[in-house]
Amino acid sequence: MNNKVIIFSAPSGAGKSTIVNHLLGLRKDLEFSISATSRAPRGTEQHGVEYYFFSADEFRQMIAEDKFVEYEEVYAGSFYGTLKSEVERIWAKGHAIVFDIDVQGGVNLKRIFGEQALSVFIQAPSVDVLRERLVGRGTDTEEAIERRVAKAASEMEFAAGKFDYVLINDDLATAKAEAEGIIDAFLKE
Ligand code: ADP
Ligand code: 5GP
Repeated sequence: MNNKVIIFSAPSGAGKSTIVNHLLGLRKDLEFSISATSRAPRGTEQHGVEYYFFSADEFRQMIAEDKFVEYEEVYAGSFYGTLKSEVERIWAKGHAIVFDIDVQGGVNLKRIFGEQALSVFIQAPSVDVLRERLVGRGTDTEEAIERRVAKAASEMEFAAGKFDYVLINDDLATAKAEAEGIIDAFLKE
């Protein structure tokens, strides 16, 4: 089957970016889907690299023109979505699309792409380990970490049974190898 998509979702801190970046570095037939957003660029973010940046009015106009596969107003006034043109751009190169998306978005994308999609939920071995990783990453305040940990529990509950594959990220080398294996098998189908 051609025109495939691979969806990765996880509670924050479970190791999604680590595993996705590993896979993207390893396989040249995978390409990351760049989302569109109406939020302002942060730091060194550039149009067409991290996101395609638009104003809220431009984004609403594109919604009216049916240009999105899916979109969500993640925060009030901040829209995020996947453009149909982005999906076509990647498939035209013969690449499989990799989505790194929140749990709700991952479930929505699986519903949209069906058999063309492999959806993978990445999970830390326990909530305590998740907390340790967030502390170790050093990018969040104590309060933000507790918020993310609390959200993780409800995301895990919501995700149960909705993903094709649950990958427990305990030992990193083992998790990377497991991810490589499931992607290899899916792309050979
Ligand atoms: P996410 O993208 O899911 O929020 P990250 O990939 O940023 O998570 O990982 C969170 C932190 O945990 C990072 O500091 C990362 O280096 C570390 N980490 C990821 N996987 C493992 C693992 N299996 N064992 C120990 N630390 C890990
Ligand atoms: P951030 O502003 O931190 O880059 O992203 C905020 C949130 O938007 C994250 O939870 C991220 O998963 C979500 N997001 C990013 N791109 C998309 C997208 O294309 N569609 C949807 N539904 N959510 C997205």
